[in-house]
Amino acid sequence: YDDRDGWIWMDGEYIPWREAKVHILTHAMHYGSSVFEGERAYGGKIFESRRHSERLAESARLLGFKLPYDIDAIEAVKLEVMKRNDLSDAYIRPLAWRGSEMMGVSAQGSTIHLAIAAWSWGAYYGDAKMKGARLDIAEWKRPSPETIPCRAKASGLYMICTLSKHAAEAKGYSDALMMDWRGYVAEATGANIFFVKEGKVHTPLPDCFLNGITRQSVIAMMRERQIEVVERHIEPAELEGFEQCWLTGTAAEVTPVAEIGPYRFEVGQMAKDMVSAYDAMVRAA
Ligand code: PMP
Repeated sequence: YDDRDGWIWMDGEYIPWREAKVHILTHAMHYGSSVFEGERAYGGKIFESRRHSERLAESARLLGFKLPYDIDAIEAVKLEVMKRNDLSDAYIRPLAWRGSEMMGVSAQGSTIHLAIAAWSWGAYYGDAKMKGARLDIAEWKRPSPETIPCRAKASGLYMICTLSKHAAEAKGYSDALMMDWRGYVAEATGANIFFVKEGKVHTPLPDCFLNGITRQSVIAMMRERQIEVVERHIEPAELEGFEQCWLTGTAAEVTPVAEIGPYRFEVGQMAKDMVSAYDAMVRAA
């Protein structure tokens, strides 16, 4: 993704896309000390922009550092980055990380950096919005909150996701459903999951993974429509009895799921309704 035209904002300056680099002894690269966001803009307006900036600051706090810019400044930069790159429908990627002044596990004295990039990014799961995505069941588990600050959108946590996604792709799937450390259904590698059974919606309780902003928006939207949504622990054995399934995430938006390992789901009316209702909501916001 480095060889293209455009501008990336880094620590207060606009850098040509190909020159936006960091030193090889950057702490974040060796020890995973970075946090990031993924946001989408529709018609020039970033959906839930402020909540994303606040989550970035909270992720940094959970990793023990403070962002070098406040929320208002970050809000302004995100819009400016889109403008500089002539984007109105865009994916926005803020990233904050510990710099290269110290080597070793400790980085107490290192500078905290912040960069913001933006580009246009189409459908995350390709044509799955119509046909439904095919998911493998991952062997790697979401860790316990006692193992890692799992509410942070921290780069280190994505090691588990990349391992799971690569294993799924090697078998021809587009993603993987991960269980948590107790064995309950958790989430996909970059999106939350919902199921439908007998008119009711069921979704895992986000007690050890990201409570996605899209997830929260979709739950609110369903409750406004008097659809019953139950947040609870879901056993893998229950997958057999669910009729419909979809994923939610900033990049994924709402994407129906047709398959999880041996289980099959209908790309049904409720899933289709959620796809279009979400599209309408982000464009109306
Ligand atoms: N879980 C993971 C692991 C993710 O990477 C994402 C995408 N940020 C989500 C869930 C969904 O979060 P959001 O709806 O805030 O994009």
